[in-house]
Formats: sequence, C-alpha cells, structure tokens
Amino acid sequence: MAVQQLRKAVDTLGLEEEVFHILRHPERLIQVRINIRLRDGRRATFLGWRSQHNSALGPYKGGVRYHPNVTVGEVVALSMWMTWKNALAGLPYGGAKGGIRVNPRVLSREELEELSRKYIVALMNDIGEERDILAPDVYTDQQVMAWFVDAYSLAKGIPAWGITTSKPSELGGLRARVVSTGYGVALCCRIFADRFLGGLEDRTVAIQGFGNVGRHAALYLSKWGAKIVAVSDSRGGVYDEKGLNIEDLVKVKETRGSVIHYDKGRVITNEELLLLDVDILVPAAIENVINESNAPKVKAKIIVEGANGPVTPGADDVLRRKEVIVVPDILANSGGVIMSWIEWCSNRMGCWVEEEEAMKRLERRMTNVAKQLIDLWERRYGDKDLRTVAYVVAVDRVVRAMKLRGWI
Ligand code: GLU
Repeated sequence: MAVQQLRKAVDTLGLEEEVFHILRHPERLIQVRINIRLRDGRRATFLGWRSQHNSALGPYKGGVRYHPNVTVGEVVALSMWMTWKNALAGLPYGGAKGGIRVNPRVLSREELEELSRKYIVALMNDIGEERDILAPDVYTDQQVMAWFVDAYSLAKGIPAWGITTSKPSELGGLRARVVSTGYGVALCCRIFADRFLGGLEDRTVAIQGFGNVGRHAALYLSKWGAKIVAVSDSRGGVYDEKGLNIEDLVKVKETRGSVIHYDKGRVITNEELLLLDVDILVPAAIENVINESNAPKVKAKIIVEGANGPVTPGADDVLRRKEVIVVPDILANSGGVIMSWIEWCSNRMGCWVEEEEAMKRLERRMTNVAKQLIDLWERRYGDKDLRTVAYVVAVDRVVRAMKLRGWI
C-alpha cells in the first residue's frame, strides 16, 4: 500500500525514477531479538524492529507498537507513513516506526517491563533525542514510555526525557498528548463537515475503534453536537440511530472491557459498522479495513482515517468514483505527533507549556494544514483524491530537502 501510494505521488509530481527507488526503502532497518524471563521461570524470545525511513527533514520520529501480528514489512510501511505525516504537518522530523511481535495482553506487568527495557537497551545507540524519538502506537502507552525513558537514562547515565514523547506528566509529558490524536481527528471531521456538509451539528458519525484515538474523537465530536450512532472495539460494536452516550460508553469499556456491553442500542459487527448509512465514518482501529470488496457498499459521505492505513489503494479508487471524500491518515491522525513535537520542544528547552496553550497550538497547526490542503485540491488537483494531494505536498517537501542536502 505504502509503495503504491508513493508511486502515485512521484508520478503526479513528475519526479525522477531515482527518487521513487530511494524513498521506497528505509534508510536504516534494525532488528533485535529480545529474551526475557517469564513468571513461570521459562525464557521467551521476541523479535522487534525499528525502521528509520527518512531523515531529510530532521531526526526520525514515530511510535512503537506491540502486536502479535507485527511484521517487518508493516513496520517499514508505517515508518514511511510517518515521514509523510511529519512532512505534511511541517514538523522538523523524519519518519520512523518500531514494533515488537508480541501479544502484550498475555504478559504480566513485570514481563512487559522487562521486554520494554530490553528493547530500548538493544536500540540504545540508534535512538536519541536528536537521532530518533519514540512514542506510543497500538497497545503501548505512557507507562511503556516511562520504562523506555528510564532504561535509556540509566544506560547512558543522563536523564533523557526527550527520547520519547507522550510520557507521564511527572516525566516531562503533556497531559494533552493523550487526547491529541482523537482531538485532531475530531477537528478534521469538523473542518470537512463545515466545508462539505454544511456543518457538524446533528451529522451522524460511526467510529470503528474505541482505543485512545476513537474514544477521544467520539468525546469531542459529541461535545460539538455531532450524533455518534455507532462505535466498536475488537469484540464488536453498538448502534443506536438516536445517538449514543459516549461518556457512558467510556465507563462501560473501562469496567466491562468492551463497548458491546452497553445496554442501549443494538449490537453490530465491525463490518456492519463500516457500511452504515452515516454522514461521517471514522475508522480508528487497524489497517486495511476498507478494501475493494466492501468499498462499493460504503454509504458515508466523508471518511476520516483515525487509524494508519485503514483504506487500501484499491478502495481509494472506488471511493473517489463514488465521490466519497477520504481524509487521509497522514492529515487526520497527525494531532498526536504534532502534540509530540510540542512536548519534545519543551523537554529540550527545559521549560513548561501550559496545557491550554498546547491545545491551541495544535488546533492552529491542524486547521492551517487542512485548509491549505483543501485549497490546493480545489485549485490544482480536482481530479485526484485528497490522499494523493497530501502526498504531493509531503513528498515534495522531503524531496526538496534531499536535493538541498545533495542526496539526489
Ligand atoms: N504512533 C503515532 C502515529 O502513528 C504517534 C507518533 C508520534 O507521536 O511520534 O502517528
């Protein structure tokens, strides 16, 4: 998917073939084997990766995911997407991503801690606040970031808050970082609804995924007057055409583990949620969920990609023909990394940013980027999908930096 999207952007920009060949591979790819002691005394080995895709615009930046199905190819694709996301947002970062092939749900807290610390020690000489800055992704959180910081700081003998972002506030993190990705997704819904649907008020929304991204997007959207009619998590979803109470759903998820235990509305599958007749659909769970087989049946008018890569290139073509607007992940979920940058800047300066000020800066940055993109789309690239336009902006920035630095 990532390579196909890059191909489209390179062709649209009319760039040299050499550029495509350089950008389709990461600059550096590190594999580590991590061995830990399990609570029953046995030992277990896991594979982990860090893919450092491009550093033309600055140090590598991107999250780390823990998931039983993580592959090296997935990590590489995600690292390429980070390069574009950071470039599109105008951040002084390149792109990277890490992953460990593990099911964190079956590990105890102690096992998870040992795994996290050993991952960082194995990568110690390849990361750093001016080299490669980590953050959470699927199934990693602030606690994992705290272990990363501590393991790195102990090994290097210096306190190094700047090696990860989205840390607990006691370790230089911003509380706003936790809500920032969902907030940015909600902002995109509002901007595109204002522009293309005549406003967000009473628009119906379905959200797939009720993790950090989906739930905060849902909370903001319902506060701003949208009607959330369906949400889901990995076990299934709930639907109520009259609208769901998101605060109650957060409580249900926290106490009973899944939104399917919400007692109002009807239980639906994840697949049914994607095909609901709603104004806005927010896939905020995993990759590839909207593909050529279900895209013809999608009824939403706007899709806002909370997850990374939820719509495949084949589905993009189908949706463009149906005139469904897809707000691409590299814009829609960039609120997280924009807030990461604000956190990293304050760590490096050794000063504080007020939470309110941080949220305002995020809002300003995302609104400007989204508006400029819509403007460029309407002015120059009306025949392309919005993803290609976003890629054109991002790839052009990276390529110009590479040319200035004499890499091409
Ligand atoms: N993992 C997040 C993403 O995919 C956040 C990256 C970051 O903050 O560095 O954008």
